[in-house]
Amino acid sequence: MQTVSKLEVLRTATGKLRNKGEMIGFVPTMGALHDGHMALVRAAQEHADKVVVSIFVNPTQFGPNEDLDAYPRQMERDSQMLDEAGVDILWAPAVDVMYPQGFSTSIHVTGVSEGLCGASRPGHFDGVAGVVCKLFNQVQPDIAVFGEKDWQQLAVIRRMARDLDLTLPTADRIYGLPTIREPDGLAMSSRNRYLDDAMRKNASALPAQMLATIHGIENGASVAHSLENLQKSLLQAGFSSVDYAVLADAQNLEPLTMLDSKPARLLVAARIGTTRLIDNMAVGETRSSGQAHGSQE
Ligand code: AMP
Repeated sequence: MQTVSKLEVLRTATGKLRNKGEMIGFVPTMGALHDGHMALVRAAQEHADKVVVSIFVNPTQFGPNEDLDAYPRQMERDSQMLDEAGVDILWAPAVDVMYPQGFSTSIHVTGVSEGLCGASRPGHFDGVAGVVCKLFNQVQPDIAVFGEKDWQQLAVIRRMARDLDLTLPTADRIYGLPTIREPDGLAMSSRNRYLDDAMRKNASALPAQMLATIHGIENGASVAHSLENLQKSLLQAGFSSVDYAVLADAQNLEPLTMLDSKPARLLVAARIGTTRLIDNMAVGETRSSGQAHGSQE
């Protein structure tokens, strides 16, 4: 695996691959890699000839009181994992490579970025859109793979990619991969390591209560009552607060008060101590084709 931190070197390396006719797959990450990230790497390897993984803890997507400084960084271990997985290029730029002095450009995706995490983390998706746009311009991948764990992020990136022609709708693809979970159902996340043993145990209530809520809604329970009960049960299970618990249209993320014929998603963000966990699951899955096997656009 070639580890690259300068843009000129990345361009030369990817240019050589492209000249040989190799298809380039791309997996952007913030590092502190776990099995969820490695599943994205394997998917990229399935869909492309060569794989570039980026590790960059992007400061612009963290709010002023968020965990930028505390965010786990373990470059040596990550690099070893990616090397062993057969990744071809690790793109690991420094902050000043990504944001040279005087950097003044921002990207704002309206609509899908506005509710949910966009409402509770103002500016977060502008930071995500900006960095992903830069990363796409740097790597110029044929395909890219993201996790459905960050469902809203995936929707924002797909909208931006289409709006700004970052990928070709005919040949190039953005893949969304289903969430990889711990044995007790908790979605894998670099932030799970913030949890002490008691918190970690309580955290499994999030997927468990979401499944119970989905079961109820699919069997005709009132959406409003089900979401209210979900919030209550999370607080009872040891969560300190719930940022949102919403049933939404899976594509445009507009809140739903009842199931209709379109794919729906239950999306939750809740805090346990100071750690903010997010999760989302399909609702009425039998009616929403393809969700269980990931999505492609
Ligand atoms: P992060 O390093 O947290 O910014 O995530 C990098 C990529 O990995 C994003 O596309 C995430 O959606 C994806 N990802 C994170 N956790 C998981 C998971 N548990 N399962 C699948 N993909 C994930």
